[in-house]
Amino acid sequence: MKFNSVDCTVQTSSLKNGVNSGIYTLILNDIDWNIDNVKPVDTEGTLTIFVEVNGDNIICSGSLDAVFSFPCARCLKLTPFEVLEEIYREYTVNESSSFTDANIEYVEIKHGVIPIINAIREAIILSIPGKPLCSPDCKGIHYIT
Ligand SMILES: [Zn+2]
Repeated sequence: MKFNSVDCTVQTSSLKNGVNSGIYTLILNDIDWNIDNVKPVDTEGTLTIFVEVNGDNIICSGSLDAVFSFPCARCLKLTPFEVLEEIYREYTVNESSSFTDANIEYVEIKHGVIPIINAIREAIILSIPGKPLCSPDCKGIHYIT
């Protein structure tokens, strides 16, 4: 399986029917994550992906071992969090089936690539803690009086 680790695309011609898998190193600052307030902490992340091809349907699953940061809910100091949520998305190359299930993303086979950046981005967003705190006893922003 051929994977472009900068734009996070899988080359469709490199996929065989059945399960394709790979482990790739992502240079986190080279990727346009475009998630509000979220920044990479680590230089590199390890992406493990499984791409299962079954006729017109393609299921992408996996995980990203990386640390990002999000502002503390009390003092806004950048607070690290790990990407713990799994990557999961379904794709189809059959144009007509995309209208029957909104959860399946249609990919045009002629482009030759499956863009999985949104699937990875989704796992990062879902991993942001509900109330991120830089430390459990954070006192919040201190104002000078
Ligand atoms: Zn704090």
